Amino acid sequence: MPSAVVVGAGIFGGSLAHELVERGWDVSLVDRYPPGHVRAASSGESRLIRAAHGSDTWYVRSVRRAWERWRRLEEETGASLLEPCGVVWLAQSETGWEAESERVLAAEGVPTERLAPDDASSLFPSFSGDDLAFCLLEPAAGVLRARDATRAVVSLARSKGARFVGGEARPAPDGGVDVEDERLTADVVVWACGAWLPAIFPAEARLRVTRQEVLHFGAPIAWETPPVPAWVDYDAAFYGVGDLDGRGVKVCPDREGPDFDADRDSRAPSEQAEADARAYLARRFPALADAPLVFSRVCPYALTGDTNFLVARHPEQPRVWLLGGGSGHGFKHGPSLAEYVAGLLESGDEPDERFGLGERRPGASLRTAGTPSD
Ligand SMILES: Cc1cc2nc3c(=O)[nH]c(=O)nc-3n(C[C@H](O)[C@H](O)[C@H](O)COP(=O)(O)OP(=O)(O)OC[C@H]3O[C@@H](n4cnc5c(N)ncnc54)[C@H](O)[C@@H]3O)c2cc1C
Repeated sequence: MPSAVVVGAGIFGGSLAHELVERGWDVSLVDRYPPGHVRAASSGESRLIRAAHGSDTWYVRSVRRAWERWRRLEEETGASLLEPCGVVWLAQSETGWEAESERVLAAEGVPTERLAPDDASSLFPSFSGDDLAFCLLEPAAGVLRARDATRAVVSLARSKGARFVGGEARPAPDGGVDVEDERLTADVVVWACGAWLPAIFPAEARLRVTRQEVLHFGAPIAWETPPVPAWVDYDAAFYGVGDLDGRGVKVCPDREGPDFDADRDSRAPSEQAEADARAYLARRFPALADAPLVFSRVCPYALTGDTNFLVARHPEQPRVWLLGGGSGHGFKHGPSLAEYVAGLLESGDEPDERFGLGERRPGASLRTAGTPSD
């Protein structure tokens, strides 16, 4: 039986542990905190799942596979993880990300509906789209209950035989993993450590970790999701979702924030993020401009230079792999990315070059057009 140690029980590591144990591997999954813990990127209340990725097809296909896998996980666990409320793209030009997405999704057989901004106003209790060229509705999209999903995937992996090891892991000189006083060894070791990966492998994992804020505003029940869809304003670098599970309307300023230490830096909300979110609400969803802030989170992005993920063999230790660089859009891919990585581990094939350790050439961001703040 092949064996693996997976370090990191976020959605990347947790999904991989589940995938491998399902394929008959002997799996140890290590984390220094309980799955779904508040510091991890995978512990947000919700994460968007959408197929649109501009001109790219790899990620479109990955999301389509992931959607099926998420549904299967719901059946297996009995948990409600995916809310298919749709995602509306707010296009500021006729020729940008949304038009490219529309073209590619049509070619891939993914349904979309083009709406005039006035027609899109029927989707939200309050909406102003005067500045928009058009809106693109992806009906087969929505949101995932991220923290619930992370905990469910890890529980399922454990119920199928994965061993959970609690403690801080360090790379051992022989390619194994030291956790407290124990050395774990296996045929394959995968480090899926999210925002912590660059500190563990500074020479190899060239990721920038940034501080991102998520704000939830109290709103009348007409804002409940579903039916209110999620939305992405790609060029304005804002996205959000209606009131899911009574936590308020979520609004995220998506410009890449300042560098962030996920262990030590403050997670208190900033006045600037609230002011930015309110200015956006006043423009796009005017009735919410003065809504009370009811809930907020600070969460780390682990960014590659081009927002493609990181899936790579360690250059000096061929049985050690690095998995991360979710770049603010990785969650939805968890189960399909795990399927992809497990396939590589079993076949010995090398990953697609785009996921490599080398220099990345910045292109169109796969998240929004959010750029560094400074
Ligand atoms: C604000 C925000 C909004 C986002 N929105 C979306 C969205 O709408 N849609 C979407 O698809 N994605 C979104 N993402 C991205 C998505 O959340 C991440 O890509 C994904 O959760 C990354 O998962 P991960 O497993 O790589 O990292 P994490 O979830 O951070 O997990 C890493 C784990 O490794 C563990 N670990 C680290 N070091 C060690 C060690 N030495 N020993 C033991 N354990 C260790 C940590 O404790 C942690 O549990 C968003 C991210 C943020 C921050």
